Amino acid sequence: MNIPILTIIVPCYNEQEVLGETIEQLKAKLEQMIIGKMVSDKSKILFVDDGSKDSTWHMIYKASLKNEMIKGLKLSRNVGHQNALLAGLFSAKMSSDCMVTIDADLQDDVDAINEMVKKYIEGYEVVYGVRSSRESDTFFKRFTAEGFYKLMDKLGVKLVFNHADFRLMGRRAVEELEHFAESNMFLRGIVPLIGFNSANVYYERKERLAGETKYPLKKMLAFAFDGITSFSVTPIRIVMLVGCLSFIVSLIFGIYFLALKYFGDTELGWTSLITSIWLIGGLQLIALGLVGEYIGKIYKETKRRPKFIIDVDLFNLPVPRRLVNREGAEYESIVETRKLSENN
Ligand code: UDP
Ligand code: MG
Repeated sequence: MNIPILTIIVPCYNEQEVLGETIEQLKAKLEQMIIGKMVSDKSKILFVDDGSKDSTWHMIYKASLKNEMIKGLKLSRNVGHQNALLAGLFSAKMSSDCMVTIDADLQDDVDAINEMVKKYIEGYEVVYGVRSSRESDTFFKRFTAEGFYKLMDKLGVKLVFNHADFRLMGRRAVEELEHFAESNMFLRGIVPLIGFNSANVYYERKERLAGETKYPLKKMLAFAFDGITSFSVTPIRIVMLVGCLSFIVSLIFGIYFLALKYFGDTELGWTSLITSIWLIGGLQLIALGLVGEYIGKIYKETKRRPKFIIDVDLFNLPVPRRLVNREGAEYESIVETRKLSENN
């Protein structure tokens, strides 16, 4: 087999604190792999700027000026981690044999990339980076995250335990990924659905290098809830079950109260009445909300909106003239350099 062309894809959202170090480490890693003849010298690092509001994009394109190996993709606005990954994968797939996605904060072990590529060369189409432990996490994060994986498993969604979005995908797998037309892409759930031969690579996950998490509790919960409702209809069935149960319970109570009325103490309390009204009301609202959540999903999916829009693509030039004007002189020079190198 020929030496594969690797593209390392890094989604970045407001990562200016950590990006400098990330660029250095990934560059060193890729250079080492190229020198070791593990990957082709056409390999690249692609930073996807997910609508950052700080100087992230500026840093990316400056780095791309300095080094041919570094590329950038600027999305038109913030579309979230998963869609940023897709933007990177779909842009890179034409000119790569395999692609590794890794977070910008380098919590994932860059050295595991070697192992991943080895597995790819051995013939695996998808290689999952799996955390060997969660020691670097707070108790809360560990508890919620592992709970999430277990819950998903109970709900019948096949996830790779303790695998986040650090993975290698071969071009074939990414091409198949493009056929999943749903607009809500929960990659951890979808990639296993692609199938093909897959392998795991184990690594220790570290603390964030710098900056703070872009997944505060609220986003984390939304992400988990999205993951569940995109892949499983079990919650809706549970609601139905609870509804049936409460109906049966209320029947039994009804009989009991009737019996009391005719054979015993007729002074029935207000409490039982009001409690059951609230109970049933609550249950109904939960059920309605959940059904609404699924209908909302259907509504969103039927619109087939694009998952991301690319503003500037330094990976697959040419950059439109108008954008060159907007970004100023430095841009001018990058385009000129490219033209020169293309003509030669
Ligand atoms: N990220 C992104 N768009 C977003 C939020 C996050 O591209 O809207 C990126 C972020 O820059 C990082 C990765 O997704 O590279 C994972 O985010 P983070 O490290 O903050 O999540 P955590 O590791 O805390 O779960
Ligand atoms: Mg992180």
